[in-house]
Amino acid sequence: MKRGNGDPGTDIGGKPPGWSCAFDGAAVIEEGGTLSFRCELPISGCIDHWGQKYRFNEPVVVDARVAGDISGLGMDLALEARAEVDCARCLEPTLFQVSEKGHIFFKPLPEDKGDQDKADSAGDGDDLVFVPSIEGEIDISDQVWEYLVVSLPEKVLCSEGCLGLCPSCGKNRNRGECSCPTSGPDPRLGVLADLMKDGNDEAPGKGGNSNGNAKE
Ligand SMILES: [Zn+2]
Ligand SMILES: [Zn+2]
Repeated sequence: MKRGNGDPGTDIGGKPPGWSCAFDGAAVIEEGGTLSFRCELPISGCIDHWGQKYRFNEPVVVDARVAGDISGLGMDLALEARAEVDCARCLEPTLFQVSEKGHIFFKPLPEDKGDQDKADSAGDGDDLVFVPSIEGEIDISDQVWEYLVVSLPEKVLCSEGCLGLCPSCGKNRNRGECSCPTSGPDPRLGVLADLMKDGNDEAPGKGGNSNGNAKE
């Protein structure tokens, strides 16, 4: 997999190198226990996921609200992004919206836990993150990246009724009919038939009769 270096069109396999979305834990406590902040995180290039390329022309926007005290901080965060991916049927670029919410608990790293700095879950759907100090700078860009990637839809359609591509000639059927015979065998079914024939030689009819491509 290629590594992103910030060039437009580069596939990004991990969090963009320049990402930072940090707050000062000490400020939360000074502010009386709550603090709200917003980060805008740009993505130049495509995120490669689900075998597709997701293009972001606008930054990912994170709104976070932190509350707590020296024993630990709880954060509600909302992530919003607009991006573009190819329609799953006709492959036309299609805009979609990501709206994801998350809860993170920050706890001071227990001194007897050595190098453990992170746990996946607090047990009730919240992410639990151990930090060296509640009163230090805490960067949530790793978590934002994880939320973003898991919220990418596997399938986006340009419209519910997208007609997709003709399996024979590849024409986008949303732009009109092609001249392929509508009753012709679907090539994908032909492949399936060939596979079944390989597994079972007792096909009906003469041996050389393939229904996919035996036409003279
Ligand atoms: Zn489509
Ligand atoms: Zn066609």
